[in-house]
Amino acid sequence: MEIKLFINGQFKDSSDKTIRTSYDPSNGAEVAKYHVPSSKDVDEAVTAARDAFYNPEWKNMSQDARADILLKISEKLKERSKEIVDIEVRDSGSTLRKAKADVHNTAAFFKVMSKVARELKLSVKDETATRAGFSINSREYAPVGVCAQIIPWNFPLVMAGWKLGPILATGCTTVLKTAEETPASAAILAEIIRDSGVPAGVVNIITGGADVGRALLSHREIQKVAFTGSTAVGKEILKTVAPNITTATMELGGKSANIVLDDADLSIAVDGALYAFLYHSGQACDSGTRLLVQEGIYDAFMEKFLERIKDVKVAPTTDPNAGYGPVVNEKQMKTILGFIEKTKSEDGKLLAGGNRITTGEFAKGFFIEPTAFEITPKHTIFQEEIFGPVVGITKFRSEEEAVLLANNSKYGLAGAVWSKDSARAHKVASQLEAGTVWINEYHLLNPGMPFGGFKESGLGREMGPEGIMSYLEVRHVWESDCNEREKKVWLDAIF
Ligand code: NAD
Repeated sequence: MEIKLFINGQFKDSSDKTIRTSYDPSNGAEVAKYHVPSSKDVDEAVTAARDAFYNPEWKNMSQDARADILLKISEKLKERSKEIVDIEVRDSGSTLRKAKADVHNTAAFFKVMSKVARELKLSVKDETATRAGFSINSREYAPVGVCAQIIPWNFPLVMAGWKLGPILATGCTTVLKTAEETPASAAILAEIIRDSGVPAGVVNIITGGADVGRALLSHREIQKVAFTGSTAVGKEILKTVAPNITTATMELGGKSANIVLDDADLSIAVDGALYAFLYHSGQACDSGTRLLVQEGIYDAFMEKFLERIKDVKVAPTTDPNAGYGPVVNEKQMKTILGFIEKTKSEDGKLLAGGNRITTGEFAKGFFIEPTAFEITPKHTIFQEEIFGPVVGITKFRSEEEAVLLANNSKYGLAGAVWSKDSARAHKVASQLEAGTVWINEYHLLNPGMPFGGFKESGLGREMGPEGIMSYLEVRHVWESDCNEREKKVWLDAIF
């Protein structure tokens, strides 16, 4: 597969002919050649987005027409599902099952965005602020403008969808930069967008590393940045965009606490805890990587947990039964193995896994055993995000202690509580400093609800009404309800 730059509705070569390769993390095989944009190409993409923003065809398009486009994208994603799944499995190291779920969820997300676009009220009179004989006050919403959107490699299609849906629903335009590790599925999405009636230049898609990201973000025409990635890079990006007062939403890292209370249903909670930290080999921002288990249930829970961890289906990603694949590349694998070694050196108690899998069909890939340690807050991995299949388990006595442990983190992306007692679970959930809290559930998201983080896990929200609002500027329109000269309150103010 050859992936070109998608700029102004056309697929183009990189102007300085820089072409790189993406590889299959399962076996090191080449997947795609992708064009890397020069700074001239980045400028061309932003200029195309700027021109498209002011293009009357896009600017004045009805919300119904935007909604129809979003629905068409959803349908075309479903039509091309097999092709996307095939490339996503190889490009990102997703299992077949995850890649299928990603396409399904992204198509569903565009469908929801279609409904949102159709129902969006762009002018709303405020009855409370309005005073008869004095003022009629309304809020008008306008698209924020040209956006720069940067996504990571763990859920390439889903992340691209989350970014592009609100652009198309609100009338913004964008340059989306995909991660170098995973350029492929967004290239197919670009074709779908071109074929769904989106005017040229509204969506531009490029792939590159930090240098391309920096060139994009510092462009004077960018009005809003939407970034998903690590907290460290998020902090750097906020510095890059500060001089231009660019609006920013940030979806960053996490170290989410998964709390198992002593009345939890073990037949679900154990599997839930494994799913929470092992989905996509632990490469999910909301992974439940700090597993907090109450003392009364601890031994029974751990016995089951260590039995069930052996049942995780480690297999080549193309195997329909695979439930667990490789991590994205050698660098990431070494980082994870480094954290494992550090935890051992800090006397963390290794309960399961801890090694690279090098046997047979896994030899050329970046597979790591599902790994569990017993730890305390003093261990590095209690605080640092690993982004791999490693959980730290900590025993607690009371609900108060669980809340203190959970909130003992610079992150605040997500968390969960497992209990048969709904009121008890809610009491704990409501004290967690986290943007999403599940009760007897994990990882499931709802496009109608916000997703994002407290503390260093982010700024703002994606999805839900909150996510849409972040792509809109609000304008207060004050209309006088007093058109008699003598009654104007300001009449004698300066005369
Ligand atoms: P990363 O921060 O290294 O890179 C993310 C993206 O930013 C990539 O496209 C990369 O090319 C680009 N980038 C890197 N440096 C940049 C710079 N200085 N300026 C502009 N762009 C730059 O993250 P990653 O390793 O690709 O992904 C893993 C991280 O993403 C984890 O920390 C994870 O928690 C986080 N993540 C968060 C969410 C969320 O919704 N909160 C979702 C997925 C991943």
